[in-house]
Amino acid sequence: MTNEQRYEQLAALDKKHFLHPTTAIAQQQASGPEFIFTKGEGVRLYDLKGRSALDGLASLWNVNIGHGREEIAQVAYEQMKTLGYCSSFASFSNEPAIKLAAKLAEIAPGNLTATFFTSGGSESNDTAYKLARHYWILKGQPARKKIISRSRSYHGVAMGATSATGLKPFRDFTNSLAPDFCYVDHFSTDALREKILEEGPENVAAFIAEPVQGAGGVHIPPATYFKEVRRLCDEFGILFITDEVITAFGRTGTYFGIDHYDVVPDMMCFAKGITSGYAQLGGVMISETIHNDLMELSKGTLLHGYTYSGHPMACAVALKNLEIIEREGLINNARNMGDVLLSGFKDIQKKRSIVGDVRALGLIGAVELVKNKATNERFEEPIAPKVIAEAHKRGLIMRSVVFDQQDTLVFAPPLIINEQEIQELITLLHDSIEAVEHAITSV
Ligand code: PMP
Repeated sequence: MTNEQRYEQLAALDKKHFLHPTTAIAQQQASGPEFIFTKGEGVRLYDLKGRSALDGLASLWNVNIGHGREEIAQVAYEQMKTLGYCSSFASFSNEPAIKLAAKLAEIAPGNLTATFFTSGGSESNDTAYKLARHYWILKGQPARKKIISRSRSYHGVAMGATSATGLKPFRDFTNSLAPDFCYVDHFSTDALREKILEEGPENVAAFIAEPVQGAGGVHIPPATYFKEVRRLCDEFGILFITDEVITAFGRTGTYFGIDHYDVVPDMMCFAKGITSGYAQLGGVMISETIHNDLMELSKGTLLHGYTYSGHPMACAVALKNLEIIEREGLINNARNMGDVLLSGFKDIQKKRSIVGDVRALGLIGAVELVKNKATNERFEEPIAPKVIAEAHKRGLIMRSVVFDQQDTLVFAPPLIINEQEIQELITLLHDSIEAVEHAITSV
């Protein structure tokens, strides 16, 4: 069978049986899968039709150490062979989970010393909300239930995570949300103060924020924003949770995104980059203070846990992944290559008339598309999806964000990317934008 025939056969099965996440289902039915990937190596993915693509989003902001790492496969194999699974409930434990929890305590900011493991970002967020509320019950303040999150935030698709997500289309997808979530403007600490006072501080359990908003369009807060957030949370006795699902493990050029802002949260959610996508793992770190309170006040059982909390293979993969990140200096590389990426964006901005604001912090960045540079006016219909289509033709993968009147291209390449590969990304991006610009202006 030729690869073309294999593609046709698989595409038919895909359409009939595979419900793709976050996908326009009618379009998927009409066109079938665009790429059926068969291999990954370094910053590149390869598909069944023999095409290669530069992975400008580290797949889903997660493949930090790049694709095709033998070392990781070896560790997973060894762990599966000796102990593929065991429970972490009650008195059971395992070596990779213990070592990973200890390693996280070593690298995390401040006094974040204990970890509750999950299988991904959404579960980590739901866990954080439940732990925060449970904490307040134990502290004798059961009215503290409200979770305040921000506009343009994305926290995942579990029930709590969906309810916390500021991007409204994700909430409107369903018609019944979890109660006690509310939202504030993403960079306004005045709005946060007002919201706390409006809800009554005695009713607020926690405030949650991504250090750099990712899926909502890559928004980097002003330098003083999180210091003021921390101050407000302290003033009103509210727990401060960071959602580091995208920003942890080097993405922004520091180990954790919040490290840029010199503040320490009370809880921190992570996932994605902990294993660079090689295994499903997430978690929530809590401060030593909260941990001590839980130990002291909790009389019964911590009635929260997933079958895969502390999965030995996933934790072994995570330990090796962190070892690679440190050994290869990938956090420094993210910082240095981030500068190259941003200067490439700025060059494109100069050359192309439809490019507005560009930004990056380490290796997470965005390019906004505008009809009019001077006024920042947008196109009536977002054109970012057209640029994505051009990029796919040329072998570049990235993502568009069109929620909330945005028309933005977002990037988060693997942290192993080198200067030459960044230049390639920039050239492909420029040419894709140019093609759309010409198509628009020639109409
Ligand atoms: N929080 C943030 C900041 C995210 O970016 C994501 C995923 N993109 C999630 C939570 C949800 O993670 P998952 O898809 O692993 O459930």
